[in-house]
This record gives sequence, structure tokens and C-alpha cells, in this order.
Amino acid sequence: MDYLPIFLRLHSRPVAVVGGGAVALRKVGTLRAAGARVTVIAPELDPELSALVARAELRHIAAPFAPVHLGDAIAVIAATDDPGVNRAVSLAAQERGIPVNVVDDAELSTFIFPAIIDRSPILVAVGSAGHAPVLARRIRAQIEALLPARLGALARFMGERRPRVKQALAATARRRFWERIASGPVASRVFAGDPEGAERAYARELRSAQLTTAASAPGHPPLGEVFLIGAGPGDPDLLTVRAVQLLQQADVILYDRLVSPEVLERGRRDAERIFVGKTPGASGQQERIHALLLSHALAGKRVARLKGGDPFVFGRGGEELEVLAAHDIPCTIVPGVTAALGAAASAALPLTHRRLAHSVTFVNGHQDESDAGTDWRFFADARHTVVFYMGLGQLPAIAARLRAAGAGPDHPAAVIASATLAGERIVRGTLADIVSRVSRLEIVPPALLIIGNVAAFSADLSYELAAGPGAARVARVEAAAADAVVEAGALA
Ligand code: SAH
Repeated sequence: MDYLPIFLRLHSRPVAVVGGGAVALRKVGTLRAAGARVTVIAPELDPELSALVARAELRHIAAPFAPVHLGDAIAVIAATDDPGVNRAVSLAAQERGIPVNVVDDAELSTFIFPAIIDRSPILVAVGSAGHAPVLARRIRAQIEALLPARLGALARFMGERRPRVKQALAATARRRFWERIASGPVASRVFAGDPEGAERAYARELRSAQLTTAASAPGHPPLGEVFLIGAGPGDPDLLTVRAVQLLQQADVILYDRLVSPEVLERGRRDAERIFVGKTPGASGQQERIHALLLSHALAGKRVARLKGGDPFVFGRGGEELEVLAAHDIPCTIVPGVTAALGAAASAALPLTHRRLAHSVTFVNGHQDESDAGTDWRFFADARHTVVFYMGLGQLPAIAARLRAAGAGPDHPAAVIASATLAGERIVRGTLADIVSRVSRLEIVPPALLIIGNVAAFSADLSYELAAGPGAARVARVEAAAADAVVEAGALA
């Protein structure tokens, strides 16, 4: 080790910063965040530093540096652009035995600033001993993504309860207890911003730990939990940060047909993976999912229920939530990028656009009795974007129904299959020809149908709304839609 990483308590203690520019301003900010009483030594000050001085939040010595200015400082930072001054500061500090940092000069420094990940009271410091600050900052960014934003809240939650737990549990039970708190439902509830839920889960954990100790029976299962996670449309980089964090913690992963292998790979390596995808025509699968969720969670496992897209968009996530609530099993819901949003981004096709469409509806393309009340005249207005999920098999019926409701033959339509995945395909057309285009190109599910003006959008064209009553029409869009067949493969 070239340096010893330590955490220095600066609360109300004097620190000197030599220099009054942008670099000094950054350092002053860091020092003040740590509670230091900062004195800046510089003939002139950056306006932001001056403002701090005016508010008496910073002391200022308006003079060129002299060693006497160091006063009773316990640390010194040289942040001027004059190498001579920086050297003089370093020498003066070292003579007095005060730690000194010269910005961007490891040779003249006796201490260096790490890259900091601040989840106070949890702090992570990354240093490269001056060899590669850029690398240290990259590592910081990677760790940032791994650590929940509310990690500090969890640390405080645990800290506040330490004395009570010390009384309630013996040393070995205590360590196991805190392990559970740090990586179980209490942590998930704190991270989800649910203090009441955290409090309830904590009370249960403490009771369970006390019972286990009292009976000295290891058979008392701790509380399990479920993460209802949206896996997004397929591209693993479209997972949310929280989805990845929780996938890394799950003991069991229940996944659907639409969850891509790449997404599944982001799960903990030794997690048990159970495929629960529905095969068309097979019944009873949803009941099997409910039973699996319950049995694993009640056995104390952390179960990730991974669903394609978003769990609450045509995902039956609501039913699973009801089952869990009935058994008082904590559940964390993580939204995902729903297929419509993934497909729209992939195809560079805005779902609303100031001149083209002012509303959007997601519709289950599987027609059944339940949509009897839907007014298709609303869908037939091209200023309204409609995204049909699960609609590929129903494409001819949907097109016919839209036509019957008043949509013209030139009503723009697009089909996007395997959006965000390697085999992605985009077909554009109109209600008159989308069916034949799709069958000619042998498009297979999963696929979405998007209809409305936006389905013909191309950023390269300028749009002019044709004047006149009735459904708005975009002349150039229609022209473009007439023969636009875009296949992602052909473009690549
Ligand atoms: N909960 C999911 C939807 C499940 S319904 C979500 O929010 O996206 C399944 C339907 O979603 C499929 O029939 C298809 O219409 C659509 N879908 C899912 N992934 C898709 C993808 N990568 N590309 C195109 N459509 C997709």
C-alpha cells in the first residue's frame, strides 16, 4: 500500500485551502460537506467563493500565500495554478508536520483525495495512488450503480436499533440477525422508501430471532420475500439499476418466456432458476406460479419474479401481488421498460408528437368479450396512437375492425418484432397493406402493432399538417408510409 485509506473527522476543525479559482471551489465544497471550518488564502476569489465569504460560511485571507497563514490548520490543500506557490505551500506544511494535498501533484502531496461514493454514513473511497484518477472515477461510477441510493438510510436504521438488539440477543444470534437485516426484507423495504414496511418486517425478524434462540431450534424459518421485477423488452442494458441489484440477491428466479437469456444472466450465479412461461393452451400455469412464489417465500427465500417488459402491463403482476399480500409476504415492485416503449425507441418512432398524435393507448390485441365496450372509432383517429400487444395473430382482424370503425386504407401502421433484441424487425405500412407485408416478411412473435400518424414518422421528413376538418392527415407521412418497409437487418 502506498497510502493508508483512513476517514478523517473534520467537524468544525480548521482546514486551509490556498487558491481562489474553480479547483479551490470544488475542494472547498468537499471539505465543507465533511463539516470542516475552511479558510481560503488567495488574493482574489471566484464569485461563488466570495458569496460563501459574504455569508460568513468561509474565512478569507486576501493575500498571496505566506506560511504564517496556515495558522492552526490540521490539513492544507494547494489548489493554485502556480507551481511555485504550490511547492511553497507543500514545503511550509511539511515543515509543520501538517498533511498537505497539492491538486494533481502526488509528489508534493502527503495525502490524496479519493473518489468518493457518499451514502452517508456509508462511505466508499477509491484511490489509485495518483496513477490513474480517471480509472478511479470509472470504478466509482461502477460501484455507484451497485449500491442502493438509500443505503445510508439502512445504515442509520441499523445503528438506531443496535442497543436494543444487544439487549435482546446473544452475540452469535446477533451477528446472524444483522446479516438478515442487511440482506433481507427489512433492507428491501428501506431501499424501496417504505419505512412502515421496514418497521413491520424488522419486528417480525426480531421476534423470529428471539424465538429461535429461546427454543434453540434452528428450524424456525426466517421471513422470505418477493421481488416483482420488470425485465424490460429483452436488451439487458435496459434493466433498471434496482432490477440488477435485486437480481444479484435473489435465491430463486422465476422467469417467463419473454425474459431473454441475457437478462437472466444478470441474476446471481448460484440462484435457482425456474422457467414458468406459459405454453399457449396450457392451463393452471398461473396457479403453479402462485404456489411456487408462496412455497419459496414461506421457506425464507428471496424470490425474484422476473417478467418481460413491465410487471403491471399485461403481466398479471397484480394477481401475484394479491396472493402475496394475502400471506403477508413483503414484495418489492420494480418497474420495467414495457415492450411499447422499447419498440418505439428501437424504431425511433415517438408515441406522441406535438403535430402527429396527442394520446396513446396500450391494448391487448387478443380479442375477447371483455373489449365489447371499447369504442374503436377512437382508435381509428390517426392522431391517436394505439399499440396492440399480443396482436400478431389477430392482425387481419384488427385491421378490418379499424377500417370498419372509419380508419382509412392509408392509416399508418407499423409492426415491430423482437424489439431491442438481436433479431429485431421493423415493418412499416398502412392498414391496407400491413397484413401482406408482415406475412411476406415472415414476421414471428413477440411483436407489437403500432397504428396512427406516428407509425409513419421519420425524423428525416418535415411534417406539415394538411388543413381541413376531420382526422388530421400528414401528406408527407402518407407518401413515406406507402412504400416504407424497413428491416433492421437490412439497415445494419
Ligand atoms: N409485460 C409485458 C407484456 C406482456 S404481453 C410488457 O410490459 O412488455 C406479451 C406481448 O408483449 C407480446 O405478445 C408482444 O406483443 C409484446 N412484447 C413483449 N416483448 C416484446 C419485444 N421484445 N418486441 C415486441 N413485442 C414484445
